[in-house]
Amino acid sequence: MIRIAIQTKGRLNEESVGLLRDAGIRFREDRRRFLLKSTDFPVEALYLRDDDIPEAVRDGAADAGIVGYNEVAEKGFDVEVLMRLSFGRCRLSLAVPENAEYTGPDYFNGKTIATSYPNILSGYLKSNNIDANVRVIAGSVEIAPAAGLADSVFDIVSSGATLVSNGLEEVEKVLDSEAVLIVRKGLPEEKKALLDELVFRFTSVINGRDAKYLLMNLPSASIDKAVKILPALRSPTIMPLAQSGWSSMHSVVKESELWDKIASLKEIGAEGILVLDVEKIIL
Ligand code: ATP
Ligand code: MG
Repeated sequence: MIRIAIQTKGRLNEESVGLLRDAGIRFREDRRRFLLKSTDFPVEALYLRDDDIPEAVRDGAADAGIVGYNEVAEKGFDVEVLMRLSFGRCRLSLAVPENAEYTGPDYFNGKTIATSYPNILSGYLKSNNIDANVRVIAGSVEIAPAAGLADSVFDIVSSGATLVSNGLEEVEKVLDSEAVLIVRKGLPEEKKALLDELVFRFTSVINGRDAKYLLMNLPSASIDKAVKILPALRSPTIMPLAQSGWSSMHSVVKESELWDKIASLKEIGAEGILVLDVEKIIL
């Protein structure tokens, strides 16, 4: 049995539960409890505030956890980051009032910076030889300059809309973050084996999310060119159509490359192109 800590509610909860579900690990919906046992896999979910997850994993209250890398980096506990999970993407950045004359990191000398991430910020200031005052604020850091609590902020940014609506401008990105799977160091072999299986399933799900399955008809004379456009997992599947001189080709592409590939395939005569979702990819 492994116990995995996930966020009770908030930005990471839904996708954490969704990733587990797509990996075949479901929990009976019963939110009144803080600890739930899966019905399909020897896993228990421990629901916690995200701030508490790194410590719970270090101390053994949980064997593993799904949490933002930003929290792991800030807490600095000795836990292992086993894999990135491709959701909850954001960055930690310094921002200044939009009318400030920003010239570079030296700007922050003598300034007061509001943040909920004092350790990451202090590390950045130290490595850039900047002497600034760090003011720790638990929430709504972005209002600190307007409220007269600080000159600037160091905070989580994703689209940047929150900064803009508070009259702030992002000037230095310090850390990229996404949700990660963390584990306690020195787990017994039996738990490690379960975690290996979990990582394998998570990887299959995440790879599948980024992939599309393509089917198309194309003139057999274009097959060589098509194989160059679509390298596929090993190589594409090609089958003859009943109509001579034509073939059907099946392949997998990254979603980000889909429309470029389709344009190239149309140029070499592909038609009747079908695009399907991929549920999982087992390599
Ligand atoms: P909790 O109640 O569990 O303490 P919280 O309010 O501290 O929750 P959330 O706002 O739910 O935290 O954010 C959780 C994590 O989601 C962040 O630590 C970060 O890793 C990630 N995240 C992604 N995008 C954003 C964003 N735009 N703003 C805040 N967090 C984000
Ligand atoms: Mg929190």
